[in-house]
Amino acid sequence: MHEWALAEAVVSFVSDRADRPRRIRVLLGELQNVDEEIFLSALKEMMDDVEIDLTREECVLRCNACKKDMKLKDLGEEERELVHFLPEAVHAYVSCPLCGSRDFTIEKGRGVVIESVEGS
Ligand SMILES: [Zn+2]
Repeated sequence: MHEWALAEAVVSFVSDRADRPRRIRVLLGELQNVDEEIFLSALKEMMDDVEIDLTREECVLRCNACKKDMKLKDLGEEERELVHFLPEAVHAYVSCPLCGSRDFTIEKGRGVVIESVEGS
């Protein structure tokens, strides 16, 4: 269970920073193949009385050839679906809608970021 492993990593990060966390803000990349509901309920189960703000970070890809920024909604439906199911293989099937290049960088939307931890 990927979501539980991820939640455990978050909990261990948070407990290093606050003995009694009250509120945490977590940014979940769109490319991170995580079931938001499972992830959130795992976090809640592991951390009682902690308010959890979970935000999805929109994915941004930057074409290295023409420097255009692309979001998932700029892609075709088929590509979007593939990104959803196979985010780690994004380079294999996405090409720039402007110039057709497959050479791009993932600027945003990858990974899980803990934005802030409030507590004592
Ligand atoms: Zn391009």
